[in-house]
Amino acid sequence: MASSTETSIVWLRDDLRLDDNPALSEAAALGLPLTVVYILDEESDGVRPLGGATKWWLHHSLASLAAALEAKGSGLLLRRGPAEEIIRELVAETNARHLFWNRRYGQPERTVDAALKAWATENGLQASSYQANLLFEPWTVQTGAGGPYKVFTPFWRACLAGADIRDPLQVPGTLPAPPKRTRTAQADDTLDGWGLLPSAPDWSAGLAAVWEPGEDGARNRLEDFLDGPAEEYGTGRNIPGVEGTSRLSPHLRFGEVSPFRVWRQIRRRYPNKVPADVGIFRAELGWREFCWHLLYTNPDLATRNYRPDFDRFEWEKPGKDELDAWQQGRTGYPFVDAGMRQLWQTGWMHNRVRMAAASFLVKNLLTDWRVGEAWFWDTLVDADAASNPANWQWVAGSGADASPYYRIFNPVTQSKKFDAAGNYLRRFIPELADLDGKAIHEPWKAGVELDGYPRPLVDLPESRERALEAYQKLRDS
Ligand code: FAD
Repeated sequence: MASSTETSIVWLRDDLRLDDNPALSEAAALGLPLTVVYILDEESDGVRPLGGATKWWLHHSLASLAAALEAKGSGLLLRRGPAEEIIRELVAETNARHLFWNRRYGQPERTVDAALKAWATENGLQASSYQANLLFEPWTVQTGAGGPYKVFTPFWRACLAGADIRDPLQVPGTLPAPPKRTRTAQADDTLDGWGLLPSAPDWSAGLAAVWEPGEDGARNRLEDFLDGPAEEYGTGRNIPGVEGTSRLSPHLRFGEVSPFRVWRQIRRRYPNKVPADVGIFRAELGWREFCWHLLYTNPDLATRNYRPDFDRFEWEKPGKDELDAWQQGRTGYPFVDAGMRQLWQTGWMHNRVRMAAASFLVKNLLTDWRVGEAWFWDTLVDADAASNPANWQWVAGSGADASPYYRIFNPVTQSKKFDAAGNYLRRFIPELADLDGKAIHEPWKAGVELDGYPRPLVDLPESRERALEAYQKLRDS
């Protein structure tokens, strides 16, 4: 039995929720005075600083989490700096004997956690970690030969073959109050003091109009999706002009909803047989798991080609004008431009358009995928350490189970096929609002004045040929 002066610490990271939070539930069950802390750590070796859009999200998500914790009799302590050091200080301040956290899977984060666990053990503390954010922890899924998977389909098949996906945990009824600390409250960090929100200029209005960061927002998204488009996901997911996907990505990124909860809600609705379309949706969750599986065994996925032969690929350094045009949605190809403007305005882009916009940068402009990855990292609210680089490498052809390099998305064909009436294009490119469903995909052929909308930045067939030549050169070298 713990002495009454002992306390516990829960360190929350990418698991900003009360529901299905094993670390929080276990700490609550222990019943000792409990400190719940979030640390903004941009100083530990290798930890990648957040981009602008994820900073905005984090601010609001933490505000929502703090309010939820307070309503349960607890609160959220904020600290900034190298996490290992800060946890040690906090242990001393609170006389903590028990540390709880949910596991992370990136290399720099695992290094911090392992060091802390070793330190805790040496010092007679109990450090307990839990599986919370992935249905299948990377090391538990192995090929017959005992290595990591490189191809999605057998990976996902192997996951599901042995699947014993646990039920999510309920939100704890109450939480133990925080202990008294020796450090004064004035010394604590504040959310506003972190300056995560953009100012001068504040570009976040478009994000705020679309998103509700936090657990309530995540729950609403999940229920709306399952009540609505889920059973037509197979086709709806390809149409950027409709809300055919869940838009759960930023909520999953920050752990505002657990994948176990998503899985459970599906099983609950379909206890006997999951409809095919909902099965396709579940496989997309599988892609998220696969990306983390890849990152776990390839910690430098954001900086190195997964396929080393691509190290010899001759990328061209993009001119500033070209890069500006891509980033600002002014390439002259409406499908790409609508996507890039959706990204800038809302912090999110439809998956089909992400593929087309990424392909345009990498293949038609022959720009290194890392340039695009960095821009998405800064602008996506769902920017994810595994999914972002894995998908960029997938598009570039340098990744695992990647799209072959010679498959080059044609933004005009994509546009005609997946936004036939031009609804999506018109929403994000007001300059084209008056063009009809036929003309809008190739506005330069419309023969009318276009209110400042640019002509195509590159010729599609020519730039395609150039990309294929560069790829052939790589294969021949
Ligand atoms: P849904 O279609 O509803 O899918 C449900 C969930 O499955 C998503 O929320 C996401 O968690 C997961 N998922 C779906 N597709 C993928 C995929 N291809 N790879 C990994 N997970 C997937 N997704 C991110 O979460 N973060 C990123 O940083 C990211 N960067 C990308 C970069 C590029 C170049 C491309 C082509 C794709 C990227 N994706 C990324 C994958 C995908 O575009 C988004 O997950 C999806 O658009 C999110 O919308 P949704 O939640 O409505 O997805």
